[in-house]
Amino acid sequence: MDLRSRILELLSPTCIGDELMPGVRLLDASTELGLRLTFSVGGAAIHVEVSLRDEGRAAAAHSERLAFAYRAGPSAAPVAPRVGLALCRAVAARAASREHAVLEGVRLDAAAARSSLEGTARVREVTIARLLEPAGTPAAPYFTLSPYVGCLIGCRFCYAQTRVGSVRRLEGLPPAPWGSYVDVRVNAPEILAQELESLPPYPLKFCPIVSDPYHAVERRFEVTRGCLLAIRDAARPRATLVLTRAKLIERDAALIASIPAGYGGVSIPTVDDDVRRHFEARGASIAERLGALDTLRDAGARTFAIVQPLLPGDVLQLADALAARVESVRIDTLHSVENAAEDFTAPAYAEASDPGWQADRALALADALRQRGVAVWTGELPDELVGVAEGPRRTDARPTLEPGS
Ligand code: SF4
Repeated sequence: MDLRSRILELLSPTCIGDELMPGVRLLDASTELGLRLTFSVGGAAIHVEVSLRDEGRAAAAHSERLAFAYRAGPSAAPVAPRVGLALCRAVAARAASREHAVLEGVRLDAAAARSSLEGTARVREVTIARLLEPAGTPAAPYFTLSPYVGCLIGCRFCYAQTRVGSVRRLEGLPPAPWGSYVDVRVNAPEILAQELESLPPYPLKFCPIVSDPYHAVERRFEVTRGCLLAIRDAARPRATLVLTRAKLIERDAALIASIPAGYGGVSIPTVDDDVRRHFEARGASIAERLGALDTLRDAGARTFAIVQPLLPGDVLQLADALAARVESVRIDTLHSVENAAEDFTAPAYAEASDPGWQADRALALADALRQRGVAVWTGELPDELVGVAEGPRRTDARPTLEPGS
């Protein structure tokens, strides 16, 4: 049984679509970024995040071994504490009688999976039953798509590490530093092809939520490439964004360009490569990221960049470099330093963790980009894709792939 099915067992006999209690309906469950149950309460979606109690994470309610915290779902409206608390308590009460059996089931599933793997490999080949994760808001829905879980680039500020590490703990896997392990979803292209047939044609985002689509193992497994081929060949085309910190995206530039509304982009928090090396030692250099944008643009893909967080470096040079290569840029500030607190302690970097510095830099960069004719977006999708419920039309304007590419 997969982990998602196990987590749903916590609420048995309540199934997806059923009411947990009057006015509270179970909508979904996800294991993509930690364990999450999603409910509809009075028409608003609320997530309940489930973690092991002994991890000590902030929670609104506990059972004997699990902790439950709430946060707003895609509607983005804040959750009234009274409502969140009542929901978490109801989930904890239902889970209390089932958690021992569910956790033992998770442990046995993971042990059985490990016995079919070679040794204690940090690169595990796993199969999945579902790939696309609903995201966004009712006005701007999209799906995220992660061919891998765990990332060999291993940025210390990566906010995925806590939640991905939490799931590994639940499965009884030994602790391992972030950046040293990855699950390869080897059947992702097949699952994606099935899901593309049945799910609404919202935009797709390959993005570094729980991994980078072009970190080192992609060269060997080509799961990202397989997924892109599935999207290209699907009956209904969809806008597709691919974001990376790795140079390997260049290999698939023509493939991305062959997808109607195919976007290729890089994450680039500074134009200064010394700063990049300090914070993202295993990511591609700034020159390589800019070169990747050139390759994507020359191949005919739509190009974008994400600047998040903002790091020290000349803002005007960054604006110039991006304006020469991309159609649009998303800018967002630092939300959490995660395990990178010591990276910000050196005098040269200390100010970058200050929210005021981040906000000022974001404004300065946005102004500089707009002056150079570059669109700036602050949500999860470029403005032209907000509210896209129908896939883009196929046209002959995009380049076609060479045979075998
Ligand atoms: S590249 Fe992205 S997913 Fe990978 S560690 Fe860095 S921030 Fe996390």
